[in-house]
Amino acid sequence: MKIIMPLATAAFSPALPATRRPLLWAALLFASVASVTPALADNHEELPDVTTTALTGTLHMLQGRGGNVVASVGDDGLLIIDNDYDNMALAYEAALTDLAGADANPLFVLNTHWHFDHVGGNLFWADRGAVVVAHSNVRQRMSMRQEMPAMNRVLEPSPVGALPVVTFGDSLALHFNGDDLEVQHYAAGHTDGDSVVYFTAENVVHMGDLFFKDRFPFVDIGSGGSVPGYIAAVQAVLERVDGSTVIVPGHGSLASRADLESYLNMLQITSAAVSEKLAAGESVEAIAEAGLGDAWTTWGGGFINEATWISFIANSQ
Ligand SMILES: [Zn+2]
Repeated sequence: MKIIMPLATAAFSPALPATRRPLLWAALLFASVASVTPALADNHEELPDVTTTALTGTLHMLQGRGGNVVASVGDDGLLIIDNDYDNMALAYEAALTDLAGADANPLFVLNTHWHFDHVGGNLFWADRGAVVVAHSNVRQRMSMRQEMPAMNRVLEPSPVGALPVVTFGDSLALHFNGDDLEVQHYAAGHTDGDSVVYFTAENVVHMGDLFFKDRFPFVDIGSGGSVPGYIAAVQAVLERVDGSTVIVPGHGSLASRADLESYLNMLQITSAAVSEKLAAGESVEAIAEAGLGDAWTTWGGGFINEATWISFIANSQ
């Protein structure tokens, strides 16, 4: 089994302006070239890189261009959580074949939410026999045209074959490869269809986009997200994890409970500060102009800068 440690840990976003994507893409390829094994490079020269990191037991994290992916590989077969952009499917197939051997088709594909940097491979894997599972709001949003004004994007309805075929409301239990998975929905956070997947035996959690490690989050208010709901979800996850839990964020590198506490701290302090200023009559523009202070500068280094984060807080009031 080849284990390739990630070199690039930046969050890659669906929201990047199209003009910036080729540059970033080139940068990622350049940064990652050292991590491609010769065999993989020989066989799949044309494929984008997917880095694989062993977590614990049957679990692995895979990182390409979009949201982080977790794979469970064991006696029951293969299960994956999220699957990046649609044009990454062949690269993931190669990476999963490295992990699981020739029969690398997942039996189950779980979606943490509907965004296209997390569910882009649904059709590819469903065509190969996977059962796609998600919260009912994921199926509903993928079924309909979606406008994302904050990202200046419009998404046409997904093909029927890409839609989740098993949907749930509050939670779902799945028993696979010797572990008991608890898939818990959190309302009105990043979207209205966010799920966190708890691998209870392995003590690994995939948080989807309820966690952008060390970065201000994207809160998709047009998809039913809200900053207060987002904070409540992060608090709820913190109550369930311990110091040994391995936390996989939607974007960014592997994280610990301490990282998630730091994230919650940022969310609470910055949103309270902005809310206070709004209540005192300050405009969003004036708050953005003044800034949040030096303590939070590095959090704006991802695709959500400080002004955008302030606007999410204001639009959640
Ligand atoms: Zn998302």
